[in-house]
Amino acid sequence: MNPVYNFSAGPAVLPKEVLAQAAAEMLDWHGSGMSVMEMSHRGPEFISIYQQAVADLRELLAVPDNYKILFLQGGGLGENAIIPMNLVGLSATQPASIDFVQTGAWSGKSIKEAAKYAKVNVAASSQAGGFAGVPPVSEWQLTPGAAYLHICTNETIDGVEFQEAPQVPGGTTIVADMSSHILSRVVDVSQYGVIFGGAQKNIGPAGLTVVIVREDLLGHALDICPSAFDWANVAEHESMYNTPPTYGIYIAGLVFQWLKRQGGVAAMEQRNIEKAALLYAALDADDFYQNRVAPPYRSRMTIPFYLRDESLNEAFLAGAKQRGLLQLKGHKSVGGMRASIYNAMPIEGVQALVTYLNEFAGR
Ligand SMILES: *Cc1c(COP(=O)(O)O)cnc(C)c1O
Repeated sequence: MNPVYNFSAGPAVLPKEVLAQAAAEMLDWHGSGMSVMEMSHRGPEFISIYQQAVADLRELLAVPDNYKILFLQGGGLGENAIIPMNLVGLSATQPASIDFVQTGAWSGKSIKEAAKYAKVNVAASSQAGGFAGVPPVSEWQLTPGAAYLHICTNETIDGVEFQEAPQVPGGTTIVADMSSHILSRVVDVSQYGVIFGGAQKNIGPAGLTVVIVREDLLGHALDICPSAFDWANVAEHESMYNTPPTYGIYIAGLVFQWLKRQGGVAAMEQRNIEKAALLYAALDADDFYQNRVAPPYRSRMTIPFYLRDESLNEAFLAGAKQRGLLQLKGHKSVGGMRASIYNAMPIEGVQALVTYLNEFAGR
């Protein structure tokens, strides 16, 4: 049987080595006689798993000492409410305000949710252009005194990726939704006030949300903010104010160790550049397939594409499945296809997809 390659957008492919290790440790973690799922989050076994995971993530992303790493629940969408509840108190405007740059579906959802907590200002939007890129930073209409600026640095559905941290006026706190490309490329954490993401795209299983937050942004939560989502409270309790998603943290920790064995984030980024180049070259070879994102903003992780003749969609997906190329159907809101090629997708998977793309197009 051919190997199976899973292109799901999320929950998504995990490294085979990690799954095998988790399977081997399932019934008895390191001679403890317990599964990680059965351990008290306050016991020495789990505390060691947690501490190693935090330390490895800090090392992988070179997170500066004045940032906290928090493990929460609620996913990316949960953070769309949790972030305003923690940060709108920092706004100098009356009423409190938040700036957004709208580059696709996920930033759009963040805007909608934040409007429950503050006045939202869409500083720039690429909606009129069909979300084919990021509006030039020079055209962003930022609000003096806004609590923060929210961006989604990889739009998972639209396939648009920021290639660098936007250079905005000093003192602007950037909050970045990195759910679908965290750890795929080197980032300078110090450019951001908050980096957050659901784990199920590029880190581990669903149920864990990672928040990296600069310390001076803690302690401003609204009174209505649930204690379990008040970052200052969560930070003070080392992410154990309430029971954290222990198994998710364990798997994330195994993924962090796997990433270190691969050479870390910089080495991963080189592989991701190579994988994406291979796939875009096949999509661009002629007009049988189409990716509609302007080349400078094309995502390396989540790559939507369309067949010129959409009546072939079902045949394309059926043929792909037969070859072990799974979950290529596009998001229902935009249709077409999508290949998510996260860190755990080996280059062989992309090569197998390219072979199929060429074959199906009759090249
Ligand atoms: C998947 C995703 C989310 C939503 O995550 P949930 O865990 O489903 O809440 C938010 N933002 C981005 C960029 C995503 O890709």
